[in-house]
Amino acid sequence: MVIAVGNETGADSVANRTAQAYQDLRTLILSGHYAPDSRLTESELTAQLGVSRGTIRSVLARLAQEGYVTTEVNRGARTRSFTVDEAVEILETRAVLEAALAAKAAERATEEDIAAMTETCRRMWDHQKPGGRDEYVRLNHRFHEQIRQTARQSTLTRFVDSLLYPLVLRQYSNADRTNPRLDSVKEHEAILACIVTHNPEAAAAAMRHHLSAVRRALQLNFSVPDDTSSAHGHDC
Ligand SMILES: [Zn+2]
Repeated sequence: MVIAVGNETGADSVANRTAQAYQDLRTLILSGHYAPDSRLTESELTAQLGVSRGTIRSVLARLAQEGYVTTEVNRGARTRSFTVDEAVEILETRAVLEAALAAKAAERATEEDIAAMTETCRRMWDHQKPGGRDEYVRLNHRFHEQIRQTARQSTLTRFVDSLLYPLVLRQYSNADRTNPRLDSVKEHEAILACIVTHNPEAAAAAMRHHLSAVRRALQLNFSVPDDTSSAHGHDC
């Protein structure tokens, strides 16, 4: 958005404040600042974001439309939470979309793209140890990000973003666990090998295999109530 400096009309400045408040609240939600299914009250948000109730209402309406929050009569707005079945559906959808992105990446990867992904996998090995999980998860995310960038297919990328997977991962991350899921770096390397050899079908199959393993790990960890003792994760 272009911000007119010095001669903003009233309408422009309201639009700018709303856009900023939307960005701020969305960032807070994505960063895990609020637990899943947390109540978001207008009075707390106006104080926190420094905007009017009217602005907060329109921001919440937009976030509800995009799936970040839910709004119900008498319950107000709450941050989104996902059942295990919903999380599984999201991972199934990711598998379809990201397989297509991996295929595109295999067609379009330059030597620089490949070098960047190779470096990410190398660093994942360095952090594949007890206590290394946070950095491992970050690198994991970067690898998927690099595939999207390599694919250069903005429509697929937009659909993947709309799945809100970061919120699913946050809810089902099993925060007490410090060990990374050990197979994910090997699965990433299998995808990368198909990209290096410019084989789209094999890259898509390797990505589908990877995301099915992530889905099975999630189901294994969270489908059985009260079983949080497992050392497996679904970092992705
Ligand atoms: Zn992954």
